[in-house]
Amino acid sequence: MRATDVIMKKRGIKGQTLEPLTKEEIKFIVDGYVSGEIPDYQISAFLMAVYFNGMNFEETAALTEVMLHSGEVMDLSGLSGPFIDKHSTGGVGDKLSLPLAPIVAACGIQVPMMSGRALGHTGGTLDKLDSIRGYRTNLSKNEFRDFIKHTGFAMTGQTKQIVPADRLMYALRDVTATVESIPLITASILSKKIAEGSEALVFDVKCGKGAFMKSLEDAEALAVSLVETAKAMGKKASALITNMSEPLGTMVGNFLEIEETIDILQGEGPKDTTDLTISLAIEMLILGGKAKDEAEAKALAEEAIKSGKALELFMDNVSMQGGDPKELMLEYKKRRSEFTQDLIAEEDAYIESIDAFAVGMAGVNLGVGRNKTTDGVCAEAGCELLKKSGDKLSKGDVIMKVYSKDKESLEPAMKLLKSAVKYSQNAPAKQDLIFKTIR
Ligand code: URA
Repeated sequence: MRATDVIMKKRGIKGQTLEPLTKEEIKFIVDGYVSGEIPDYQISAFLMAVYFNGMNFEETAALTEVMLHSGEVMDLSGLSGPFIDKHSTGGVGDKLSLPLAPIVAACGIQVPMMSGRALGHTGGTLDKLDSIRGYRTNLSKNEFRDFIKHTGFAMTGQTKQIVPADRLMYALRDVTATVESIPLITASILSKKIAEGSEALVFDVKCGKGAFMKSLEDAEALAVSLVETAKAMGKKASALITNMSEPLGTMVGNFLEIEETIDILQGEGPKDTTDLTISLAIEMLILGGKAKDEAEAKALAEEAIKSGKALELFMDNVSMQGGDPKELMLEYKKRRSEFTQDLIAEEDAYIESIDAFAVGMAGVNLGVGRNKTTDGVCAEAGCELLKKSGDKLSKGDVIMKVYSKDKESLEPAMKLLKSAVKYSQNAPAKQDLIFKTIR
């Protein structure tokens, strides 16, 4: 077999019907790339051919499986399960993994959570956790297992041994304009999630200005691809397609989002982040066989918050992963950057919308996120949204409190944030939080 033949088969010949690739051909390409036998330029051509011509479910499942076996698969044998994780396609103010893991763990689900860092306008779970002083997100395999055994969940970063094919291919896709391909995104996400040991998966596919997928049509295509490919690989799966036009909740930032997590677990979180966390918990509890229907699952998840059990598990996890719950609570609502400014309402009006993408990009300026993987982030940077769409403003009201990593970065961020807020003289229509569920 030659790489050129596989590339040509996926590229196609004008006037001829495209034949799907076989698993052997996909394996030849992926293994050849990981071993260094096939060079970047041939994989780039292959990725571009996939970008334009797509892959059917069988090809996507084969690509996922081959990528999955390019590295280590976590061995969780000896733990009781069921092992279920949730994956979000990324958003602004999206801290839902943080309260969700202890809530479902309190109901008997085990969550092996391997997360990523902020990149571009979207936040990263690992950066949020790292903002807790002392908290370690580089667990060894044994720690990961032990911590899951102890509290029902553990949160760590992906090791170099997990799906090396994705690490290499994602870096190449990033610089060859081939990221936005549904089969490539599906195989990239699924191979990593299956490698961490999950038996079932719930996807939160974000849709709107602040998401990868801007249209409902694209978000639905990705959600269906993730769910169907996961099922083809023997995993249970479901997906929620959720609104990401406006930042989620009231906090955008690393430590700020830890604070909102505590609020949610204390039963005092904003309505949107609380409702969405419960909706994702419902999916996980049904997939894990802990509830027979949505009503039962909802009651279980709500009770995990009300009883204080989920908060207790969160604090146990903080302590196990190196943080200090007492110190965390001493800093809660107090730890703020000294470089701060308020975004003030310019007129008496309703807020029609707050553009999540603009807030995310302002976050990058402020130090919440990063443009390059090598950039650092600032724990205290971010925005506290005191008003959201639908709220009535009087001129001079504070819309957001803005915190920056330094003095210089405040001005460009304030410009972006100012442009993010649209005013209206009429109350805007209420937006749906969840557009669709795919099971
Ligand atoms: N997230 C991933 O992990 N992979 C992609 O391809 C896109 C988003």
